[in-house]
Amino acid sequence: MDYIDPHVHMISRVTDDYERMAKCGCLAISEPAFWAGFDRGSAAAFHDYFRQLTEYEPKRAAQFNIKHFCWLCINAKEAENVKLAREVIALIPEFLKRPNVLGIGEIGLNKNTANEATVFQEHLDLAMRTNELILIHTPHLEDKYKGTRMIIDMLKNDPRVQPHRVLIDHVEEHTVRLALEGGYWCAMTLYPTTKCTPARAADIIEMVGVERIMVNSAGDWGKSDPLAVPEFIQEMKRRGHPDSLIRQVVFDNPLAFFRQANNWNEEWLRPTTQADPASGVDSIVPKTVMV
Ligand SMILES: [Zn+2]
Repeated sequence: MDYIDPHVHMISRVTDDYERMAKCGCLAISEPAFWAGFDRGSAAAFHDYFRQLTEYEPKRAAQFNIKHFCWLCINAKEAENVKLAREVIALIPEFLKRPNVLGIGEIGLNKNTANEATVFQEHLDLAMRTNELILIHTPHLEDKYKGTRMIIDMLKNDPRVQPHRVLIDHVEEHTVRLALEGGYWCAMTLYPTTKCTPARAADIIEMVGVERIMVNSAGDWGKSDPLAVPEFIQEMKRRGHPDSLIRQVVFDNPLAFFRQANNWNEEWLRPTTQADPASGVDSIVPKTVMV
């Protein structure tokens, strides 16, 4: 089945992963800016990272006809250094018009500290001033419920925020309704151990339905599986769910969210493999749907 992985950190994956994802039906991915496994020492390091996300990685993905999108920010873990965070936020506007950029993300909280909240709100202000979509990382394990509540409170405190332009990521059983009832999009991360397994994600879909919800692998440098979305598809099929319902979660929903992006170009949906002269990236090749 064709699918989109809306959250995967391909800079930390090998090219073979792109090939295996393409063979399993992956047509597009989006890559949020994140922590690289170590704290970077300067804003210049982030400048290079943003170039990698907007120049290099789309070309690597295009070799396998996978359309690469990305999100820009300084992640919550490094945002503890507010001075560095402000220097990085100041770099972001020059990249926002690059064709594969979908918005600001993954911003959020890690340990729910005051500094993280300050930097979250400064990213939020940038997104509102530039009318960008937002992708939000919620904390792991025991910090998740409190952090998700704090994030939603900060979103509600800014009257400029339109919930349908915000995606709250890494939701689980105890936070999924907080996101959906606020009118936000949400995503479940399929991790072998610390986050949702494909079976838990299928349980959650059976509990809350398929409106404004998607799944991702969040594949990165740690223990993770870039083929987690196909695993979820198999689990849903095994339970007897129809292809149309599964497809809404793994393709239609991420596409509907991405389509709100300022840089979105419907030409990317053309059923062709010719290079897109505007981006230098091959078009995604929809085999079954579109428009
Ligand atoms: Zn991530």
